Amino acid sequence: MATDKQRAYSRKYYQEHKDKWRDSALRRKTGEKLVLKSGYKYGETHLCKCGCGQPAKRLVKNAGGLGGWAGYARGHAPDEPKEMFIPIGESRVLAYAAGIIDGEGCIYGNIRLRKTGCVETHVMIQVTMCSGSVIKWLKDNFGGRTYTDIPRSGHAAYKRRYTWQITSKQVAPLLRALLPYLIEKQERAKLAIQLSDSIADVWHRGRKGKLPAEEVARRTELAAGIKRYNRTTSGEDQPIDYVN
Ligand SMILES: [Zn+2]
Repeated sequence: MATDKQRAYSRKYYQEHKDKWRDSALRRKTGEKLVLKSGYKYGETHLCKCGCGQPAKRLVKNAGGLGGWAGYARGHAPDEPKEMFIPIGESRVLAYAAGIIDGEGCIYGNIRLRKTGCVETHVMIQVTMCSGSVIKWLKDNFGGRTYTDIPRSGHAAYKRRYTWQITSKQVAPLLRALLPYLIEKQERAKLAIQLSDSIADVWHRGRKGKLPAEEVARRTELAAGIKRYNRTTSGEDQPIDYVN
């Protein structure tokens, strides 16, 4: 038997949704297509914005429903992430990339504890420059994600900048390849490799994705080590308690 509370809830639920249900029933009868926020309709095929003539890809939401149309075919959008690859054996390319990361790049590590008890491990290599050509070179040679924006604050406010990123599990294999060439950031790269490897290691995931306490402590220590290096005024690989 439904309680009064349950009945009240289902009445409320019906009132909130009845317009939507009536609309979709009407659409089914008349054959009218639902217009999405993007201005497109379900069931229509759209062509890639780049003009290649291929169909644009359709986004799928987490719940399995359609999420509207993306304007481009896969791999055709200007800032679409590219799968990472490592040009092993091309020492000139690896050395140049290591120099860029030493000079203009940043290696980040962070652990976030959620209220649910889940632990988020973030590790990232990022290079930001005011010129797009080196950023494009990095993406062409290593894959990853690039984007451009104009910061609203900070020392370079209102100046367009270009960013290249490699994140999570992909950080370790890349840094392993670059390690012999890194000079300034070699020590924090070693910590980032360990942090990135711990994300890849599925055996560290406990029940329902919860990590054992000692693994959380280990990751927190690794992230703190990377942060200590990033905070030194010289920017070099020295712990923060280093005295000149
Ligand atoms: Zn295209």
